[in-house]
Amino acid sequence: AKNAGRNTYSFFEASMHANVQQQLSLLQDFRKALENNELSLAYQPKLHVASGKISGAEALLRWWHDEHGQVAPDRFIPLAERTGLIVPIGEWVLDRACRQVREWQDDGWVEASVAVNLSPMQFRHSGLVATVRTLLNRYGLKPQSLTLEITESTAMHDTESSIVILQRLCDLGVRIAIDDFGTGYSSLLYLKRLPVDELKIDRGFVRDLAPETEDRAIVGAVAALAQTLGLEVVAEGVETQTQFEVLSQLGCDYLQGYLLGRPMAPDALLDRVMKPSD
Ligand code: C2E
Ligand code: CA
Ligand code: CA
Ligand code: CA
Repeated sequence: AKNAGRNTYSFFEASMHANVQQQLSLLQDFRKALENNELSLAYQPKLHVASGKISGAEALLRWWHDEHGQVAPDRFIPLAERTGLIVPIGEWVLDRACRQVREWQDDGWVEASVAVNLSPMQFRHSGLVATVRTLLNRYGLKPQSLTLEITESTAMHDTESSIVILQRLCDLGVRIAIDDFGTGYSSLLYLKRLPVDELKIDRGFVRDLAPETEDRAIVGAVAALAQTLGLEVVAEGVETQTQFEVLSQLGCDYLQGYLLGRPMAPDALLDRVMKPSD
């Protein structure tokens, strides 16, 4: 028992070291992921409640590692963000997603649109507006076919500069969504000044929507606020029929979640849209 404290300490030290090593080796592998063709995008459908139609999809980055198999974005995106690698990767994501929406439209899904997640560093990177403009031209896309998602905390960090960047993007005509809405601490005053089109309610608020719950009140309040500000509301993480019904009633314009479809390959989504089973 005398040495237990020390042993415990060195155990933690060793596991911390292993963790750092793991992250470093993951990062090294991620640097090569693009050239090794290990990255792809999965597309999660977004349902327009009023029409009952799939209006588009959110592009989600996937990494297939030759040893570890699929690695979750939550594991490698923060690493890529800290090292700046997210900027070239993010440009690749934007290019792929734009090319995909062009292809869907050419294949007959004329209203197809795509939403792309922007990391904080990518959002503040000086080349972003030019990149987006170039891609819209390259693929001949209507700007409304592209939605850029930034998280509430990204938008609310240095709000004055966020407003400038958002205004430039807005001038291009692309749509802007505030992702994970409700998890930050948006001042309503700023929200009113931000040129955005959509609020995406974080799935944390969608889990328990039973009557009289706080979450139900919050979702209702956000939907009402959005309506006042002329914004559209998307609820994410919809997994059950009950959630679907309550969220529709509360005034959400779009719904996303496993109930409506998991992130999938682009051809699978096109099949779903062009040959609906019901
Ligand atoms: P996010 O933008 O909030 O994306 C939604 C996440 O929720 C996705 O996880 C999606 O697969 C998952 N999801 C969708 N519906 C449901 C549901 O009904 N239930 C549950 N439990 N989960 C659901 P994913 O693909 O693992 O992505 C995690 C996060 O990684 C994303 O959160 C986003 O922040 C980030 N990410 C993914 N792709 C990109 C990308 O291309 N660029 C950047 N910067 N970030 C990305
Ligand atoms: Ca998102
Ligand atoms: Ca989200
Ligand atoms: Ca999230």
